This record gives sequence, structure tokens and C-alpha cells, in this order.
Amino acid sequence: MTDLSAPDVRDDLVTASHILVQKNILDGFGHVSARDPDNPDTFLLSRNLAPGLVQREDIMRLDFDGNDVEDSGRRSFLERFIHASIYRHRPDVNAVVHSHTASVLPFSITKAATLEPVMHMSGFLGPEIPVYEVRDHGHEGCDMLIRNSTMGDELARSLGQEAVVLMRGHGMTVVAADVRLAVFRAIYTEVNARVQAAASSMGAYVALTPEEARAADETNSGQNRRAWALWEKEVARAP
Ligand SMILES: [Zn+2]
Repeated sequence: MTDLSAPDVRDDLVTASHILVQKNILDGFGHVSARDPDNPDTFLLSRNLAPGLVQREDIMRLDFDGNDVEDSGRRSFLERFIHASIYRHRPDVNAVVHSHTASVLPFSITKAATLEPVMHMSGFLGPEIPVYEVRDHGHEGCDMLIRNSTMGDELARSLGQEAVVLMRGHGMTVVAADVRLAVFRAIYTEVNARVQAAASSMGAYVALTPEEARAADETNSGQNRRAWALWEKEVARAP
């Protein structure tokens, strides 16, 4: 049954797409999806479109095999399998952001450092953030995209129970219990990556302990409404 007091998930998806573009998490590429609260074995994702241009009527409903449930004839994203497989593997996840964020990408390719939570706003990051490597799964010479359920399932297994999985030479995928929290996590994964890179350029630095990260995450997960209200207003004002 639909909770009428809950935010409309289609409206949130449109706002989320625009916020993530404004925050440089998404550009002409990348996408954000939500599990359909009325049909939880399906999910909502825009048609194949730059995220800054997404409007409510662009949102499609897909099943966990990546098929268009409503047979709308519209073209979906090639990488819809990222979302489909994660919803199938993670019943606790109701929103997924996939991006190619430039400040996060170095941590997917370097052998010299691993992304880790270094500040209180990113306590949701686990102490060992997984990196999905296509070559570990026999996809040598591929174009790096998650093009089918087999690769989607591999990515979902790499993610495990974490909030973020990096994808070597490609980007990141962030999950959460709702769209607003997924946006918050995507933004602060990016901020954490910048802060960690800046600190490591100065030399040795101190990361959060797992206990500090967990405690900070507990506090922040309940506080993200304030940030969403600001970001929503910023995109509403944008030309
Ligand atoms: Zn991608």
C-alpha cells in the first residue's frame, strides 16, 4: 500500500538526477534509480537520457532482468543491469546511484591507496571498500560496461553488504534505503575521495576507525533531510 505521507519516489528521482549533476557526481552519463514501492520486484529508472534532462515522464519501470515492464517502446540504459541485479541481491536497498565521478575514479585504479572513510560525513563507507574488476571475471578486452545480468550479478556480489562499490577504470555504484540517502552517500563519497587525496598529497593521514565510522553514520543517516532540502532548493533555482 502506498504511504501518502512518503515523498513521491518519481519526483525524488527527478530531483536526485538534477542534484547529482549539479554536484558533479553525474555528467552526461550515469543514472539513479529507485525500487518501485508499489511493485517492489520492479524498479524505476529514466529512459536513456542525460541525467540533467530527466523529467517525470521519462521514468520507466523495469524488472530485475532489465525488461521494460510497461512495454513503453522507450530505450533504457545499457547499464540497467547494475540496478536490476543489486535490487535482486539486496532486499534492503531501495535506491542506487551509478556514476563515473572523476575524483573517485583514481581510487578504482591505483595500487598505492584504497578509498576509506576519512571524515565524519562519510562514515557509511566501510573500512574495506570493494573494487569490482572485470578481468577477475573473465571479461578481458570488454568495454567495462555492465551490459547483462551476469555482470550485474558479479557487481552485486562484489558490493556485498556495503554501501559503495568501486568499478575499476569505470566509476562507482552507491546504494541506500531511499533515494535521498543514496544522493547523500554519492555526494559524500565524492567529498571523501577529494579530502583523502588532498590529505595523502601532504603525507601520512589518519582515517576513521570502524567504530567512529559506524557512530558517525548512525548520526548522519537521520540528518540527511536537512541537506536534501537545501539541494532541492538549489536545483529548483537553477536556470
Ligand atoms: Zn557506467
